[in-house]
This record gives sequence, structure tokens and C-alpha cells, in this order.
Amino acid sequence: MSMIDHDLRPDPGPAGTASALLTIDLAAIADNYCRLAARAGTATCAAVVKADAYGLGADRVAPVLAAAGCRHFFVAQVGEGVALRSILGAGSMIAVLNGAAPGSEATCADHDLVPVLNDLSQLDRWQGLARRLGRRLPAILQIDSGMARFGFGPDQACALFDQPDAFAGLDLRLVMSHLACAGEPDSPVNAAQLSAFQAVRQRLPAVPASLAASSGIFLGPDFHFDLVRPGAALYGIAPQEGAENPMRPVIGLRARVMQTRSVPAGTPVGYGHTATVARDSRLATVAIGYADGFFRSTAGGAAWFGGARLPMVGRISMDSLVLDVTDVAPGTLGPGALVDIIGPERDVDAVAAAAGTIGYEVLTNLGHRFHRIYLGA
Ligand SMILES: *Cc1c(COP(=O)(O)O)cnc(C)c1O
Repeated sequence: MSMIDHDLRPDPGPAGTASALLTIDLAAIADNYCRLAARAGTATCAAVVKADAYGLGADRVAPVLAAAGCRHFFVAQVGEGVALRSILGAGSMIAVLNGAAPGSEATCADHDLVPVLNDLSQLDRWQGLARRLGRRLPAILQIDSGMARFGFGPDQACALFDQPDAFAGLDLRLVMSHLACAGEPDSPVNAAQLSAFQAVRQRLPAVPASLAASSGIFLGPDFHFDLVRPGAALYGIAPQEGAENPMRPVIGLRARVMQTRSVPAGTPVGYGHTATVARDSRLATVAIGYADGFFRSTAGGAAWFGGARLPMVGRISMDSLVLDVTDVAPGTLGPGALVDIIGPERDVDAVAAAAGTIGYEVLTNLGHRFHRIYLGA
């Protein structure tokens, strides 16, 4: 069987001709890191760079975080950790949140990655490797304090602590847990998870502890422990629902107008004719669609151009969407012009809300057809 050896990822071309431009402000990421580290007080501030730094490019983002003082990084998978180790070199902790998939333990150790141990089988396999290598291996122990996703249940963990050699061959670097409802400060789940975590943590007083991700940092010092693990807030996503966003915006997305037309009142627009213009209108077709991660479920969306709001009309197509540009002076918004899809008037969280999702999903779906511009490197 012959292998397909060409890369099907498009080359978006130079900024001047690309269909869409994604601007990623690395200085804002570094500044957000410093803001979060300050919020975390005496706790160490780590950085979560899983999923290619939430779609923004771990190869560009991680060195900037390291330069800002970050020495503890989290990824989700061993493969991401291997790539990150080659980006960062030696000297930083790289932890793997999902733990090592069966068979990937040796790779994990070879690249000096620290697996999060989430259950007995991960613990057994990591200890087995430590025995075979004849050396102690670093590990992080995860407790499920009330999310039913990853980690040892509190009772299961305490049963382990009763066995003197439960962690033989391992060097426990951290005991951690994760909050299910940290974005909602009033949720009683936060206090319940905090006390469940504290109860387990008391059994391992010498091991540093970590509970808070971005939102948890804003729940106050009780949640900070020894290390905090923000991801989303580094990338400008608001850490608390319904509160003002204390983070600096990181991304901007502009898409190019490909065609404009004037249509009479009553003209249906786009697939399914789901929208009909109410007045004589000017429409602009813009080169961004759901294949770029601009979700088809977006409702009531708009783009912006020079302070003017340009409502989206009809369904979002794979490679394009249509804007009502009637209120922009004729001649100012022709083919080649760039409109703001994500920008100061409409941030990642607003775009996500219009699509019925969260900023995390918008960032991690940002497409591969954008010309990327990194600022402040
Ligand atoms: C993704 C993740 C984080 C980072 O969460 P944010 O909400 O993006 O700050 C921290 N800890 C764990 C266990 C995670 O899975």
C-alpha cells in the first residue's frame, strides 16, 4: 500500500492575500500568566498547554510562558508531552493529565514526563516500569473529589495510604484534583470538592497539592494550595461566568470579503433560505465558514468593520458566510477588505455564546486555513 506523503493542510499564503488572519498576542499571554501568578499569591503558577495550547500553537506559546517564569506545564497526552519536551528542552516539569496510555510508559519516562496517576492500573504500570528501570520515577496522584472523570476516589486513595509501600519506587510530586463547577462561584459543589480534597490531602502532608484551574484561582486563597493550573485564562477566556473578564484578550480573527451584491427587499439568502432580507440591502460574502471552526450553530452573530456592526444573514456555509453591510458607506467595504470576526467588539466568549458553546471550544477549533500572525514574540 502506498502512503500518501503530501500534507493536505492548506498553505494560507501571505497575510496580504490570505482568506483570514488569526492574530495571537504572545505578550498578552505572558501578561495573563503574570496576572494569574499574582492572583495565586504564594502558590506556584503552572500553565496548561494541552491541545496545542488550546489551538494557539504550543511551539510559540510555551517558550513565551517559560520566559515569563513558568516551570510547570501540563498537557493531556504523552504525545503532546514528547512534542513539548523537544520545544522546551530540559529543566521544566511536564505533566500528562490523562496519564500514560497502556504501552506508552517507557516513552513517558524517556522524555522525562510526569504522568498523572488516575487509577490502580496506571499506578501499577508506572511502578512496574520503575522496577524494570531500577530507579524512582516521578508521579502525580489525582483524586476524584467530585467530578467522576479522572482519579482515585477518596476512599480508594485512603485505602492506598494505609499500605506502607503503596507508592514504592515513585517520587510523588503532587496530589491534585479538579473542580467541576469552578466557573460558578456560588455553586455549593466548590466547597464540597474542597473539603473532600482537603480530607485526602491531610493524609499526604509532605506532598504539594493542586486543585485550581483558571476559574478556581478566582474562588480565593483556600483553593490555591501549592500550585495552580490555569489554561483558558492564559488565552484570554473569562474565568468566571457573569463577571468582568480580568484577562487581556489574546486573539483576533479577521476574514476577507470576497464578493458584495445589492439585493431587493424579500431576497432569500443562503442554504435552506432560512433568512430573507427585510429591506433593500447590500450583502458581503466573507471567506470564513464552519470548516474554519466558525460554528454553523452560531445564532444572531455579527462581524464588525470600523465600528459598524454587520449582522450575519442566513446559514453559515463551509467556507463562507454572508453579512448585511447595508449600513456601511458604499465603496468602503469591497472585495479584499477584512472584517473583524473576533475582536474588541466581540470576544471569544461572545462568539462562543452565540454558537451555544464555550470559549474553550471556539479556540480549540480554530482552523488551519488562517494565516497566523504572532505578536509580541
Ligand atoms: C484542562 C485542565 C486544566 C486547565 O483548565 P482551564 O479551565 O482551561 O484553566 C487544569 N486541570 C485539569 C485537570 C484540566 O483537565
